[in-house]
Amino acid sequence: MQVKAGAAAIIRELQSRGFQALVVGGCVRDTLLGRTPAEWDLTTSARPAEVKKLFKKVVPTGLKYGTVTVILDDGQYEVTTFRSDERYVDGRHPDNVRFTDDIHQDLARRDFTVNALAYDPQSDTLIDDHGGRKDLASRLLRTVGDPVARFSEDGLRPLRGCRLAATLGFRLEAPTLAAMAKTGRVAKKVALERVHDELVKLLAAEKPSVGLEYMRQAGLLALFLPELSQGVGIKQPPEYHQYDVYWHNLYACDAAPRDQLTVRLAALLHDIGKPACQHGMTFYDHDQTGAKMAAKLLRRLKFSNADIEATVNLIANHMFDYRSGWSDAAVRRFLRRIGGLDNVAPLFALRRADTAAMRHTHGTDYLTELQQRIDRIVAAENALQVSALKVDGRDVMKTLKIKPGPQVGQVLHALLEQVLDDPKLNEKTTLLKLIKKHV
Ligand code: ATP
Ligand code: MG
Repeated sequence: MQVKAGAAAIIRELQSRGFQALVVGGCVRDTLLGRTPAEWDLTTSARPAEVKKLFKKVVPTGLKYGTVTVILDDGQYEVTTFRSDERYVDGRHPDNVRFTDDIHQDLARRDFTVNALAYDPQSDTLIDDHGGRKDLASRLLRTVGDPVARFSEDGLRPLRGCRLAATLGFRLEAPTLAAMAKTGRVAKKVALERVHDELVKLLAAEKPSVGLEYMRQAGLLALFLPELSQGVGIKQPPEYHQYDVYWHNLYACDAAPRDQLTVRLAALLHDIGKPACQHGMTFYDHDQTGAKMAAKLLRRLKFSNADIEATVNLIANHMFDYRSGWSDAAVRRFLRRIGGLDNVAPLFALRRADTAAMRHTHGTDYLTELQQRIDRIVAAENALQVSALKVDGRDVMKTLKIKPGPQVGQVLHALLEQVLDDPKLNEKTTLLKLIKKHV
């Protein structure tokens, strides 16, 4: 197994001082899967104070839990002392963190077998007390020990399980999934900030629907995103749709660009207004109703104002209906309504994702056409805008005492560049001053 240089160096140093030290958890799991780990975590028999003494730059990031961060040239490394956790009364944090010299106790406190692997690069040994390697091979998530007991200790674990199922593309072992449904009371205690973080990670998976459907089966969706569960069984016009509202939302989310959180959020939530707006097979105003519901939901789950604003705007505008017959003025009104040019690409990405989760009766060629018309209008306006300046060619000639010629146009275009950067400059007196600078 190839271990990142900084992690290997820390392990060498700790071991040379007589401590045990290994890489552990997600980084071992990801490396064995052939993925690049996001971070390399270390575990050691050395106490935090001892780790601190051995390295130049050490930040006490989680002393209470035995974690310090060692900063090296090639990155930062969390180094955590072997722990054996005792009793979880609040369903989230162990009441007592006890340090130990036994790596096996440390691995036993970890959540899933595939996360309970540790590797020593010095001796090239993998410690796999819980069959993690076998579960990696069968792409299975299984708790270390009894799932009901482990989920009762810490309500975040079921959520981590659903998220990891999505990001790794794994199945949840049946008793593990069944245990999630039984421990909802503990999951309820998880801070919504943590739910936010897990949801954001889940939404970056290739197929978020995998994790979201597990959340539904585990009762976690009803707990944290009831607006989505309400779509289950809501039928839609069969000439356009083969899925109910719930699956349509999930598949639209899968089809949205993986690296654009707010487009994925908008796709996931774009039709949550439908159950409340249902009249037979029509859902009048579901875009506006859904936008309001999404704003509440996202605020509840601690999303930033910027994320909320972008997502809600996309949902509110997702029903636009372009026709080739639109006048240029109509295209301009559309641009104003959606909040400007910057919103075109995300809105079109949302529409493509929406369409991908429907019967493919009419393609998206009309989006290409609308895009071309927008590009033409923007190009024309940019070329025209010299005429929107509060000075004209005569002002340039008078101020610079020059005759008509190409220089006049050059000066006007230079002014336009400045005004496009800062519209406040478009005042006659300001522009006259700027003209003088162009000699
Ligand atoms: P990611 O790829 O998101 O980093 P990860 O599994 O590495 O996933 P971390 O939060 O970095 O998640 O945690 C590192 C390791 O700590 C895990 O692999 C697991 O062994 C352990 N761990 C994390 N959270 C818990 C928890 N709530 N209960 C038990 N063990 C946990
Ligand atoms: Mg990790």
